[in-house]
Amino acid sequence: MKKPVNLTELLVSQLVEEQCKKRSDVCFCDTCKADIMAMALNHLPPRYVNTDKGELFVRTGVLNSQLSTDLLVEVSKAIEHVSKNPRH
Ligand SMILES: [Zn+2]
Repeated sequence: MKKPVNLTELLVSQLVEEQCKKRSDVCFCDTCKADIMAMALNHLPPRYVNTDKGELFVRTGVLNSQLSTDLLVEVSKAIEHVSKNPRH
């Protein structure tokens, strides 16, 4: 059975990976990445789609620009917070 995916979660994980490559000043170990994702996702509405549609969205980058701005803002905030209070 196919399960719906949370598009917000897919996109947030992509953004975290992108930031991880761009920023060498912040720890992006598995613990910190998971904390960053959890924090950002708690501040963003989930958007569930069926799997095929989710992959299409991600592949073609068809995104509401307001949504991607919101995602980036929350991811950046989460990165700042976690980098100041790492759990290790
Ligand atoms: Zn870390």
